[in-house]
Amino acid sequence: MRISYSALNTYQSCPLKYKFQSIDRIKAPKSKEAVFGSTIHETMKFIHTPGILSPTLDQSMEHFANSWNPAVFDNPDEERAAFSQGIKIIQDYYKKNNPENFNIVNLESRFAIEIGRKDNKHIVSGIIDRIDKTEDGFEIIDYKTTKKMPTQERVDNDIQLSVYLQAFLSQYPEEIKRLDKIKVSLYFLKHGVKLSAFRTKEQLQQSEQLFLDIIKLIESKAFDPQVSPLCDWCGYQKICPMWRHKFREERKIDTEEVNEAIQEYIDLKSAMTVTKTRVAKLQEKILQYMKQEGVERVFANQGIIAKTLRKTYNYDEKKLKALLEPLDKWESVLKVNGVALRNILAVLPTPIKNEIEKTKEINKETISLSVKKK
Ligand code: SF4
Repeated sequence: MRISYSALNTYQSCPLKYKFQSIDRIKAPKSKEAVFGSTIHETMKFIHTPGILSPTLDQSMEHFANSWNPAVFDNPDEERAAFSQGIKIIQDYYKKNNPENFNIVNLESRFAIEIGRKDNKHIVSGIIDRIDKTEDGFEIIDYKTTKKMPTQERVDNDIQLSVYLQAFLSQYPEEIKRLDKIKVSLYFLKHGVKLSAFRTKEQLQQSEQLFLDIIKLIESKAFDPQVSPLCDWCGYQKICPMWRHKFREERKIDTEEVNEAIQEYIDLKSAMTVTKTRVAKLQEKILQYMKQEGVERVFANQGIIAKTLRKTYNYDEKKLKALLEPLDKWESVLKVNGVALRNILAVLPTPIKNEIEKTKEINKETISLSVKKK
């Protein structure tokens, strides 16, 4: 399979979006965030393109302004705010990164590397924003225009940086001996912060394996939609089963009856939440009364309320094991506690998390309706 890094990234964020984009080849309009990101990237390239004289800050801002596309914004206020933000990014960046101070090896360099083994080989392609020669090695940099910054732990395990490093090593194979001198960095331009890390050979192997696992999922045609904040920037909402209904008026498809059912369901669910809270309060009051009066049941015209005591038990694990193991029944009472596992997952290193993910199997599938009130 031949796949670009950005397509793999799309699959990781939403498999259905990947299908729309890369398999069905349905064109979607570029989001304003994507257009903004491209203009900033283009300006970064302009700033660092080697020449006799590096561009000044004014020239860099002028370049940004000339590449600006106001048409993608919804209204003039939004467009003005985005433009000012872009100018501020360029100014802040330039102040911290005078282009004279860098030894650029390559800008926006395209790559296509082979991953996997003999019977399972794939080509991954992509573009590396920038490669610098540093005092004692190299630095591979990717610019980000996202609002959210990841933790250092995420950067330490970021798969994109590992792939870019592998692509770099395919051009400079002898550098594998000096991995500790090749820095990989994500530069968050909206924050003016660069987060860097180094990779070991083991980490490179792990990220290659992760890539192969994703490719396997794509080949198995697993294309479930993944709703996330990224949906706000997805151009496929009108055809996506998770969002399509929102555009029903444009498509003129619903019957009155279905709309009423949806509305009633939301109302009933909200009423259930209110009822649950009220029931808990009443229960507290009645139990207090029973305790005070020393009674176990209370009577009303509509019925009788009785107090029941439910007990849950913990067992002495050692003694239980000693009793059940000789009968070959110990294993059958051991069950993975999903909640406890989720809690410890948060603090485990990413490679172990990935391995645990791979051990997951669907036990049972049930369908329910959840309500998110506006
Ligand atoms: S709208 Fe969201 S769930 Fe639907 S395809 Fe796009 S990213 Fe995926």
